[in-house]
Amino acid sequence: MNAHYPHLMQPIDLGGLTLRNRVVMGSMHTGLEDSVRHLDELAAYYAERARGGVGLIVTGGYAPTKRGWLKPFASEMTTRLQAMRHRDVTGAVHDEGGAIALQVLHAGRYGYHPLSVSASNHKSPITPFRPSALSSRGVDRTATAFARSVALARKAGYDAVEVMGSEGYLINQFLAARTNDRTDAWGGSADKRMRFPLEVVRRARELVGGDFPIMYRISLLDLVEGGQTWDEVVALAHGLEEVGVTVLNTGIGWHEARVPTIITQVPQGAWRDATARLKAAVSVPVCASNRINSPEMAEAILAEGQADLVSMARPLLADPDFVAKAAAGRADEINTCIGCNQACLDHVFQNQKASCLVNPRACRETTLVLAPTRRRSTVAVVGAGPAGLAAATAAAERGFAVTLFERSDSLGGQFRLAMAVPGKEDFAETLRYFTRRLEVLGVDLRLSTEATDAELAGFDEVVVATGVVPRVPAIDGIDHPSVASYADVLAGHVVPGRRVAVVGAGGIGVDVSVWLTHQPETLEDWKAHWGVGDPSLHAGGLTEPKPREPLREVTLVQRRSTPIGVDLGKTSGWAHRAVLKQSGVTQVSGATYVRIDDEGLHLLVDGQPRVVAADTVVVCAGQESVRDLVADGRHVVGGADVAAELDAKRAIEQATRLVAAL
Ligand code: NAP
Ligand code: SF4
Repeated sequence: MNAHYPHLMQPIDLGGLTLRNRVVMGSMHTGLEDSVRHLDELAAYYAERARGGVGLIVTGGYAPTKRGWLKPFASEMTTRLQAMRHRDVTGAVHDEGGAIALQVLHAGRYGYHPLSVSASNHKSPITPFRPSALSSRGVDRTATAFARSVALARKAGYDAVEVMGSEGYLINQFLAARTNDRTDAWGGSADKRMRFPLEVVRRARELVGGDFPIMYRISLLDLVEGGQTWDEVVALAHGLEEVGVTVLNTGIGWHEARVPTIITQVPQGAWRDATARLKAAVSVPVCASNRINSPEMAEAILAEGQADLVSMARPLLADPDFVAKAAAGRADEINTCIGCNQACLDHVFQNQKASCLVNPRACRETTLVLAPTRRRSTVAVVGAGPAGLAAATAAAERGFAVTLFERSDSLGGQFRLAMAVPGKEDFAETLRYFTRRLEVLGVDLRLSTEATDAELAGFDEVVVATGVVPRVPAIDGIDHPSVASYADVLAGHVVPGRRVAVVGAGGIGVDVSVWLTHQPETLEDWKAHWGVGDPSLHAGGLTEPKPREPLREVTLVQRRSTPIGVDLGKTSGWAHRAVLKQSGVTQVSGATYVRIDDEGLHLLVDGQPRVVAADTVVVCAGQESVRDLVADGRHVVGGADVAAELDAKRAIEQATRLVAAL
């Protein structure tokens, strides 16, 4: 029995397959699945996670038919040739002692192409294409195609499959009255709506026999209007057990749901109660997922009997050695996923390959390699923000002798400020990770130390990562006592008054506005504010949201005339914009700053004067690079290089790439 996480590290028998522990790497589309050209990279990506000890890997989704593609020419598992090509992927995982399941996913009306089909012809709010309604024969053929993909997965050497029945994809579209108004044998009553997934699993089981695990991802809470009732979810689960499902994995929320389910601001373990409720109603093993990112949370869910397995997708992207580190009692060395979505889901939704903000090697295992160096060189890194931390740890990992200079008495730079923002508390984990990594790698860390040119002259390589300072805009009255920078406010050096004007509505202006208005909330409050209710009382688990009570009266201002927050992350920006609205933040676009005085912030909007009465004016007008130490022969990374794109994703990746090439 493992001394650190006894439940998490316990093997589990799934009939024909024994997993070495309870950790499932959840399905996540990375973009590497969509072309045979990337199969080697995909194999390396999974193999690294298998080497890191994960119990079962679930691939990104593979369509059972072309009409089920996620986008044109996306991944599919429809021919024997495709199955044979996957043998390199499954073989690579098996060579590392791991197990891998193929996920079969039919996108239905989420397919981003004109051939998409669904139960009915209702267009989804998140795709421009209206699907065709499948004919009765078409539904029948699609169920058979699912089963054939499952059988092909077995031929490809996969140890199991996952049938994707949640998140609003085709199967979910059949299940919910919202998207299924058919009148044939595949729609109408709840029983008929359930027939499609039951046929999929029944036919798959017939083809693969009894000893091949079939996992089914069931939607516990649809979080959309017209979603399934809890009784329907349980009836489906019972039906799936009868037709031979091996494990029920759990999904929360359709992609079109207007309730965040996995981003940073969702409290950790927010959905474990729903999983426990399903577990109490069925006899097959149940897998918890969504917003679980630490071995402690995973262990607690298992120890409390809320689930039998725990699925984590992004945390395994962030750290391939998550399981091995936890098992060895080195959880403090885990590079924790911070739920930002910036390099994973945001990339995928923008048609780029996924990676990870805190681990830029993710999905680049074969191209971004930190190989041991043969040089006995010394490296000085100046500045311990994200860029400097990434440079110092990557250089030490390669075997360079590294000294890290930091002027202040703590690590993190601008990143440290982010963790003060409500819902971004996990950012502290990145600093914990880097702090520990510096110790493990023996980096000579010099806090409260200003690096001088004379000192730097003694190093073979110098990396300048001195970051940024907040920009002070040229507004009349900017030196008025009511004015503070976002850095001073978030660091707690200035306590803002009750009425606040925020100058600048980039990512930080939005974050600061949330910080200014936020009242501490419990998980129950959080659910109430987003309108998440008891699924036995409210279909889809959706109810009337409870209004927030903002702590302060905030006006957020920008000069551009575009709506505020349009440039925020693709998959999280909408939630930030929703919180601004829920918190009653007044938003002003197209403003010209006139002056700041005792009355507040004076503007011109559409040529008309307007005064934002404010006790405090918080400036969030971007940043400027600190480049005092930039010189020929030195490398420059992060905000010191480009302040305009100040961004931890770019900073960490740039620093890692630089060091990989030293
Ligand atoms: P930013 O996104 O560049 O926004 C700066 C804001 O200041 C803009 O609204 C700009 O809008 C305004 N501004 C620029 N120069 C000004 C001037 N001279 N006078 C008055 N206003 C001026 O910078 P940020 O908000 O500091 O964020 C920095 C980076 O942090 C971002 O690039 C982002 O990558 C990251 N971040 C992201 C998030 C997120 O996605 N949730 C959150 C926090 C931080 P106008 O010119 O229209 O006034
Ligand atoms: Fe997690 Fe952000 Fe990395 Fe995605 S990019 S895996 S959300 S840390």
